[in-house]
Formats: sequence, structure tokens, C-alpha cells
Amino acid sequence: MINKTSALFLSLFTISCSHNLPDFTSRLSTRLPTESKTESIGEYSLGCLQGAQTFTGKEKGLILSQVKRGRYWGHPDLINLLTRAGEEFNKHNKKIIVGDLSQSRGGPTITGHNSHQTGLDVDVWFKILSSKDEVSFRAIEMEDMNSFEELGVDQIKLIQFFAKDPSVERIFINPGFKKKLCQASGALKLSAEDQHKLRAWWGHDDHIHVRLKCPSDSSQCVSQNLIPAGDGCGDDLNWWFTDEAKSGAGDISWEELKAIYLEKIKKLPEQCSFYSDTF
Ligand SMILES: [Zn+2]
Repeated sequence: MINKTSALFLSLFTISCSHNLPDFTSRLSTRLPTESKTESIGEYSLGCLQGAQTFTGKEKGLILSQVKRGRYWGHPDLINLLTRAGEEFNKHNKKIIVGDLSQSRGGPTITGHNSHQTGLDVDVWFKILSSKDEVSFRAIEMEDMNSFEELGVDQIKLIQFFAKDPSVERIFINPGFKKKLCQASGALKLSAEDQHKLRAWWGHDDHIHVRLKCPSDSSQCVSQNLIPAGDGCGDDLNWWFTDEAKSGAGDISWEELKAIYLEKIKKLPEQCSFYSDTF
């Protein structure tokens, strides 16, 4: 796990941004994956994805959101996990809304995320639809999801589904929700094992971020340090409510964002040269 000082810095990139993207980044949203063997390469926050896969469109219980961003590509293990999550919710006449995975070749994104670079990260919205719910195209495409006030049984099931999957490395959630779940009882109470995988991070007030372990077919994938032992409800969680933690949630200008993005591309592992191929 990165330390909290660098985390403060990194968190500056995790804002969403509605500016028009420069030409090359809009090309990124439409280009295709490489056809080579699937492999997640490098770090979650500095890497790329070779041979990415996506959904067939026939999956049940899943709605993709913000498709115009072109971030619906992932390692097959991630597509498989989400497909199974959709099947599970579909059995109960519910649908889950999937946000960003990775770009077709992974790599840095200019807006929205620091990680999601190796096809192993996905955002899943807290908002869960029943099969009768009508959801407008605008709400799904324009990031118009309302932030969430209270987690209910559906959201607990969502967290449990992912936390129990052996391929999942960790799940990020807003510190406020983490605290509530640490104190929850009855149907909202998570097991210690589920709490262990569920970790606080900035943002994430309308979604969870699910991260897979490095897959066995990806020898160049760099694992993150292990999650500290325990349920993450003690001192570690208290830090998130300090002034130091809160100061990490700042804003950043568009120009700075662009400069950071271009810098990250330069630092990508050598094996990720295909990421810059069509710039
Ligand atoms: Zn995310």
C-alpha cells in the first residue's frame, strides 16, 4: 500500500472533470485493444493492459454507464467477475450499474482516476436498479448519479459479493461509509473477512471500487503491498477524519491535470509502448 503522504498527492488526480478532452485522448476512447495475449502489465496506477476484453452485450443484470468514455475494457477475469455479479443480481430482478473499468489498452486516464490502468479495477455504483426501474440515458451517460446518503441491504450484498470472491484483492469505499459499516449491526453488518478487504479512500461516495489481484497469466503485473491485518475499523480508519486526510481531497486545475497525465505516459513501463502507438 502506498503511504499516506504519497496518497495525499495521488488523491489530487482522482477528481472527475467535464472539460473537453484534447484530441489524442478522445482517440483513446475509440481505439481497439492490442490483439496479443491478454496480460496486465505494471502497477495499478502505472501500467497498461494487453489483449483487453469487453462485454458481449448479452450479460444479464448489468448496465454499463458512461460508455462514451471508452473505459469498458478489462482483463477477462474482471469481465467474468462482473458478469457473475450481474447474474447474481438478475436472479433477484435487480441490476447493477458498472462504471469505469480501463481503456482499451489500459494506461493513464486524463480524468477520473489514478489507477484503473491494468484492467483489474472497476467502479460499481451504489445505486442498484430493480428490473422495473427506468433509467434515463442522461443519468447513465452524464455522470448524473446522485451521491448516496445511506447504504442499505442491496449495497451490503454488493460489497459482500465482491469481498467474498477470491480474485478480489481489495475494495475501496468512502471513509464515512466505512465508519458506518464498522458500527453497523443486523443485516448491514459485514463479517470481519469482508471488512478486511473493504478499505477507506477519498471519493467513493456513490460507488465502490473493486480491485483484482494480479492474475496468474500476467507475470509482469505488480502486486500492491498486502492490506494491513484486521478489519480496518481502528486507528487506520480514524486517520481519514483528520485534517491531514481531508486536505488530500483538494481540486486541481485542468492544465496541471494535463501535465501530470503527459508525465505519467512517459513513466509507463517499457512493455507498455503499445499504449502510445496511435497518438
Ligand atoms: Zn475507481
